[in-house]
Amino acid sequence: MAEFVRGAPRRSKLRLYRGITVETFLETSLSPAVAYYRDSVAPTSQPASSGIPGVKKQGVSLYQFFAPGGVLSRTHPAYEFRRGQLQMAQAVEQALEEKRHLIVEAGTGTGKTLAYLVPVIRSGKRVIISTGTKNLQEQLFHKDIPFLEQALFPDGASRLNVCYMKGRNNYLCRKKLYDLTDQPVLSGLEEIEHYRAIAAWEKTTQTGDRAELAELPEASALWHKIDARSDACIGQKCSSWDKCFITEMRRRAMESDIIIVNHHLFFADLSIKQQSEYAPDAGILPEVGAVIFDEAHELEDVAGSYFGVSVSNGRVEELCRDVEASLQRNHMLSVSISSAVKSLRERSMFFFALLPQGEGRFSFENRRDFLEENGEEFMSLQQSFTRLNSELENLPSKPEEVFNFARRAQELQVQFGFLMESEDHNTVFWIERRRGGRDKFNVYLQATPIDVAPILQSCLFDTLECAVLTSATLAVGGGFEYMRRRLGLEHTRESVLPSHFDYENQALLYVPPDLPDPRTPQFAAKAADRIRRLLEITRGRAFVLFTSYAQMNDVYQRLLGELDFPMLLQGDAPKSALLEEFRLTPNAVLFATSSFWQGVDVQGEQLSCVIIDRLPFAVPSDPVVAARVRSIDADGGNAFFQYQVPAAVITLKQGFGRLIRSLHDRGLLVLLDNRILKKAYGKVFVESLPNYRKTTELAVVEEFFGIV
Ligand code: SF4
Repeated sequence: MAEFVRGAPRRSKLRLYRGITVETFLETSLSPAVAYYRDSVAPTSQPASSGIPGVKKQGVSLYQFFAPGGVLSRTHPAYEFRRGQLQMAQAVEQALEEKRHLIVEAGTGTGKTLAYLVPVIRSGKRVIISTGTKNLQEQLFHKDIPFLEQALFPDGASRLNVCYMKGRNNYLCRKKLYDLTDQPVLSGLEEIEHYRAIAAWEKTTQTGDRAELAELPEASALWHKIDARSDACIGQKCSSWDKCFITEMRRRAMESDIIIVNHHLFFADLSIKQQSEYAPDAGILPEVGAVIFDEAHELEDVAGSYFGVSVSNGRVEELCRDVEASLQRNHMLSVSISSAVKSLRERSMFFFALLPQGEGRFSFENRRDFLEENGEEFMSLQQSFTRLNSELENLPSKPEEVFNFARRAQELQVQFGFLMESEDHNTVFWIERRRGGRDKFNVYLQATPIDVAPILQSCLFDTLECAVLTSATLAVGGGFEYMRRRLGLEHTRESVLPSHFDYENQALLYVPPDLPDPRTPQFAAKAADRIRRLLEITRGRAFVLFTSYAQMNDVYQRLLGELDFPMLLQGDAPKSALLEEFRLTPNAVLFATSSFWQGVDVQGEQLSCVIIDRLPFAVPSDPVVAARVRSIDADGGNAFFQYQVPAAVITLKQGFGRLIRSLHDRGLLVLLDNRILKKAYGKVFVESLPNYRKTTELAVVEEFFGIV
C-alpha cells in the first residue's frame, strides 16, 4: 500500500461494491485536471466596449498583466504564474465584450478575484460584484481593488470609483433616530447608553454604517428600531431624504464603476424592484452592464428566500408598535385607532396560536383543512388590517409616515391572503417556529418558490447583458447542467479551470470501507472510535464536520476525555471566536456543523485534517427540499439524481475545500460514509472531487503522516 501512495495503485480485481470498486474509487477523477471550455450557444459578435482609457492606452493586455514578467509579477510580492487565472480573465473579458453569460468554476488558489476585476476594469462598464460572504466583500474593497489601482495606475493618474454597499439594515435611519429624540421610548439602561452613543456618532459619521460603532453589540435591540430597512422608509417624502445615508449610498453607487454588494442585498433589491408599485424608492442598485456573482453556489437559496413571501407575528407586532409610537408622538392617537391596533394585535396572536404546532421548519400542506376549521379567525385578522388601514387613511392632515403604515397594513393583508389561499403550483407553503425567549415563539408563515429558475430567467438573466457566475464549487461530474437547470441559465459559456494546487500530492482522501451505514444506530460509536484513531495520527489539528447537531453532540460526548488534544465545540462561543481559538491553540480539534462547511479559511499546519461524518444530503423532510423533490419527480425527472445528489456534491466539495487553502498546505480528508463506495451514486461524488490521492487503508494514512 505504501507503493500506492507514491503513485503505484495496488491492483485489486475484487469488485467489492455495487456502484464502484475500491479500485475505481482509488483511480477515479474527472475533476479539473484539464480545463474545459464550452459554449451552449453559437457565438454572436458584439463590439467590444471601450474600457477605462488609462488601462487600454497603456496597452496592458490580459496576458501582459498576468503572464510571467508582466504587471502582476512586478507588483505582487507573492506572484506565481497561474494559468487558470489568465484563462479565467480571458473568459470573463470575452463574456463582457460579447454580452454573454458565463459560468466558471475556479478552484481555491486560482486568484479568481483579480481574474474578474482586471477585465471588469478594462471593460469600462459599470459592474456589480455580488459575493456570498462579508469577508470576500471586504477583501475586494480593502485589498484587491486598492492593489489593482496601484498596479494599473502607479502615477495616480486615474482612480477607480468603487463603492461597497451592505444591506439597508446596516445603516442608520436618520428619521427614526430624530423621532426617537423627540420622544424617547427606551427600555433599560443599556438602550439609553446605546442611544447616546448612536446620537453622538450620527453627528460625525459620513456613511451611517453601524460597523463604525464597534461598541454597539451585534444584537442591539435599539439598532433594530432605528435601522434603515425599507419597510418603514417613506422615500423622497422623508424630511431627512437629502441627508439620508441610503440616498447618499444610492448616489455613490450611481457614480461608481464597481459596486460591491452581497447576494442578500442584490436579490432583496431585485425583488423590491419587481414589486415597485409598493416601494418605488426601495431599489438602491443602479442599472449596470454586468453582474459578477462570486460564491455563486449560494444563489438558488438566497434568490428563493427573496422571491418568496413571509409574514410573522413579529412583523405584525412591529407594525402595531410603529403606529402607536408615531401617532403618540404626533398627538394623533385617537381611541378608535388604539382600538383598531388592539384588535389587530389580539387577532394576530390568536391566529398564530392556531397554526399547526411544532418547532423548526415544517410544511403547511393542509391549509384548506385549516381554513375550513379556522376560517372565521382568519377573516377576523384580515378585517383587522382593513379596519386599521381605513382608520389611518381617514386621519386628517396626517404625517407622511402614516401613509407608509397604511401601505404596510395593506401589504400584510395581501400577503396573508396569498399565504393562506393561493393555489400556485410553483410555491411551497410552510411554517417556521423558533423559540425567541422564555415562553415566546417567533412564528413565520412562509411561501417559497419551488423552482426559482423561471423567475431568475425572466427578471435577471433575460434582462441582463452579462452575468458571470463563479465559485470553487459549481460543477458536478465536470459539468454545469445542475446549476444551469436550477438557476434558469440557458445561454452561457462554461468553463472549468485547472487547479493551481497539486491536490494529488497535497491531500489524501481516506474512506473507511468497514464502518456501518451512517443511518444506523451503530454508526456513532464506531465513527467516534475511528475519529479518535485518526486524530492520534494527525495529532489533532482537525475540523470534524457533521451534518446534524445531534450527531455532533453524540460523537463529541463519546470523545470527551478520550483525546489528548483541546476540543472545541460549535455553540460554545461565537463562530469567529471559535475560529480564532482554533488558530491559536496548538493541536486543537473543532467539532462543528454546517456553518463551518464554507467561508472558513485556516491556512497552514494548524488545520491538517478535515473529517466529514456523512454525505451531506439535504434533510429530505425539509419542506422546501421535499417540495422540490416532489416537483421534479412529478415532471417525470429523477429528483435524486437531478437534485439531491448534485446539491450534496456541491456541499461536500465546499466542506473538503476547507483543507487545502494554499500551495503549502498538506493534509488528510476523511469521509466516514462509505456509501460513496457502495452505492451507484457514489461515482458522481468521486468524479466531482479534485484529484486527491485516495485510500481505504488506515496504514496509508499513517504513512502519509510519517508514521511507519
Ligand atoms: S429616506 Fe428612509 S431611510 Fe432615509 S432617513 Fe428617511 S425614512 Fe430613513
